[in-house]
Amino acid sequence: MGEGNGAVYSPMLEQYFEMKAKHPEAVLLSRVGDFYEAYGEDAETIARALQITLTSKEAGGGRRIAMSGVPHHALHTYLAKLVAQRRVVALAEQLEPPIPNKLVRRDVVRVVTPGTVIEEHLLERGLNNYLASVSTCGEAVSVAYADISTGRTAATAFVGETALDEAVTELMRLSPAEIVADLPADVRTVLERQMPGTRVSAPPIALVGAVDASARGSFSMEESRVVGRSLAVLDDFVRRVGLANAGPVLRTPEYYQSGTHLMIDANARKHLELTKALGGNSKATLLATIDRSRTAMGSRLLARRLLAPSLDRALIQQRQEHLEILIGDYAARASLQSLLDNVYDLERLSQKVRYRRAGPRDLSALQRTLTLLAPLRAALPPLLEPLGATFGEHGELIALLERTLLDDPPATLVDGGVIRPDASAELAECVALRTQARERISALEERERARTGIKSLKVKYASAFGYSIEISNSNRSSIPADYVRKQTLTNGERFITPELKELEQAISSAQTRQLRLEEAVFQDLVEQVAGRVERLLTTADALAELDVFCGLAEIASERGYVRPVLIDGRRLEILDGRHPVVEMLVGNEFVPNDLHLGEELTRFMVLTGPNMGGKSTFLRQAALLVILAQIGSFVPARSMTLSVIDRIFTRIGAGDDLASGQSTFYVEMAEAASILRRCTSRSLLLIDELGRGTSTVDGLAIAQAICEYLLGLERQMPMVMFATHFHELVALDERWKALGNFHVTAVENTVTSGAPVFSHRVLPGSTSRSFGIDVARMAGLPSGVVSRAKEIASALDERPTLSERVPLRAPLAAPNQREETQLTLGLEQKELKRSHLLN
Ligand code: ATP
Repeated sequence: MGEGNGAVYSPMLEQYFEMKAKHPEAVLLSRVGDFYEAYGEDAETIARALQITLTSKEAGGGRRIAMSGVPHHALHTYLAKLVAQRRVVALAEQLEPPIPNKLVRRDVVRVVTPGTVIEEHLLERGLNNYLASVSTCGEAVSVAYADISTGRTAATAFVGETALDEAVTELMRLSPAEIVADLPADVRTVLERQMPGTRVSAPPIALVGAVDASARGSFSMEESRVVGRSLAVLDDFVRRVGLANAGPVLRTPEYYQSGTHLMIDANARKHLELTKALGGNSKATLLATIDRSRTAMGSRLLARRLLAPSLDRALIQQRQEHLEILIGDYAARASLQSLLDNVYDLERLSQKVRYRRAGPRDLSALQRTLTLLAPLRAALPPLLEPLGATFGEHGELIALLERTLLDDPPATLVDGGVIRPDASAELAECVALRTQARERISALEERERARTGIKSLKVKYASAFGYSIEISNSNRSSIPADYVRKQTLTNGERFITPELKELEQAISSAQTRQLRLEEAVFQDLVEQVAGRVERLLTTADALAELDVFCGLAEIASERGYVRPVLIDGRRLEILDGRHPVVEMLVGNEFVPNDLHLGEELTRFMVLTGPNMGGKSTFLRQAALLVILAQIGSFVPARSMTLSVIDRIFTRIGAGDDLASGQSTFYVEMAEAASILRRCTSRSLLLIDELGRGTSTVDGLAIAQAICEYLLGLERQMPMVMFATHFHELVALDERWKALGNFHVTAVENTVTSGAPVFSHRVLPGSTSRSFGIDVARMAGLPSGVVSRAKEIASALDERPTLSERVPLRAPLAAPNQREETQLTLGLEQKELKRSHLLN
């Protein structure tokens, strides 16, 4: 009896609570025979979380303690549920075979957390699962992250006043499953609130002393230090969950700085539905629409690219070249893709080897994948032959796997039959012994048949009884006296003889030895593969790259995408552009539209038109085409010319941020403030309604003031597309040359009593018809409400419009006054100013 949680428990419970004390953040499941069990509070937690029965167990001293458990063979199903609920699970195993009346040694061998999952069934094949860490050091903040299932690791740093905001933005882009926040507790709480759905925890131990701050990329000293720290936090976490027992498991980090990729802010990413859909249709994302990857590695790479398109014109153009070649050579692409169809997830397989969790089938899949490298190389079109060099050379490893592993091995080693007998002399001997013994058994069968004259006499093998001679009842009279009866059957009997017994033992001891030898040879093989993991992962990268090229070439030729032209200056021109996702949904019905934004052209487009006319679709389409162009893809259009865009912002839709207790309007204004603070002359800014969450007068006033502010930035102004029902904004074109009015068209259908017919055409000029009341009627508002609304609308129409009452103002903000004006936009700042004035 011992102490645990202050009470006296039986030795097994004491052992349980000792382990639990080392992992207070986790629910502890401990292996007991065929079950994984939890006791006390953890038992109650998992019973609730998994909807399983809660029972109790004798706890010592006549008391009982809550207990629940899951069968060991179903562990993965339950684990999946617990991880999906963002829980941490510690798994304790029996470290020795059980001996009656003795407490088995047990310890926690693995802690499964949402960000450190490596089990395939808990992971999505086409998406990365990230564990991130964030650290601060003086003015600098660093974000590091790794996909533990692939080893891919990266780190970045931010400095200055907005560093923390930028770090949060970066975390949102990554949407990790788990964040280890090496931050003061209050900041951690804020982060937790901003990232619902992500597990945010403190580092298990506080880092002490200096962290390695050797030169990393082009970081400053301060940045290097904080990057070192966030990577150390990551490393330490991986070690603590029991994944680094066989050595380091993370790849050499990729260091990057903000400004190396097209920044898509969190709202834009969400509303553009790049990798996740807002509604239920998970197919309605850009990723799902264009992803024709044949491998999981390709899908993951494409998803990463969509969330971080390039700013590097040379790189984009090089990718376009590759696509051009693959689009032009259908035969080559088809044969590459049919080979890629048979490529396994080399990235996760290699990483599994690194964790020493690869089974016979994993190594066999790895072998089959590697043997495809030569045919893949041979299938490359001549101009892409240099890509073949990036696949790497694995001839030696292929040979080793071929001469060691049997074809199509079983999933586990328990029954043998994994290793080729000639892989070791000893193994060959065991196999020979078994074969000889089996041959001798056949000879014995023949001999006994001759001796007894029983034609149907058979030597049979049953797993529970071993070998025996089976004789049917009709031949009972011919059974020799030296046969020993072993088992009675309905139709006959089974016998053994001393010789048969001896042969059976010979087979069984040879088999035991063979299993031990196979296991040793397999472990050795895993070690040899483990030594080559870095090179295998480089090959995996190359295959993913090739897969993405082929997939993008496929969608481009199938849907008639064209190659965008990249130019200097500030320009975004699209002829007959189509929304890639909506196009897939509506097919030939989709109406293509042109867009001309840029210097000497409209830089600020005001888009008016009826509800349901297609304004949102047109805005989003522009952003999606820019993103496709900058990942190096072709685009759905007749032509596209663009200068590289650095950031895409959207102010779309209204959503209450209930979690942080902020109103729709507040969130909208906070978003607008943040956009104005961060946009540059190379950014693309999409505004789909602004200022609608408050009174018409205040809303219009804010919308117009924001337009005037942006226009006042003149050459520093981003390219803006502003869809609005505030018709008053149309008049701004009188003062600003950069502003252009456009509208989506609709006509009244006289046959169906005025229901609008949408042509979805975007044309120059503005319109004041919203068809709002018609749309309301189509949506099913009672006819009385609709006709009353018409009456009110015509009465209002006779009053002067707001634009006639609101004078147009001269530009408010010259670029150098930007800071000043911007302050008045943040509500809190305004509040501050007011209280300052009052004092
Ligand atoms: P609201 O002002 O009410 O928000 P909207 O003008 O933004 O409306 P959208 O949401 O863009 O309108 O489009 C309405 C519907 O019209 C979409 O669901 C889409 O299916 C269809 N649509 C939009 N653009 C096109 C197009 N170019 N070709 C064909 N169908 C389109």
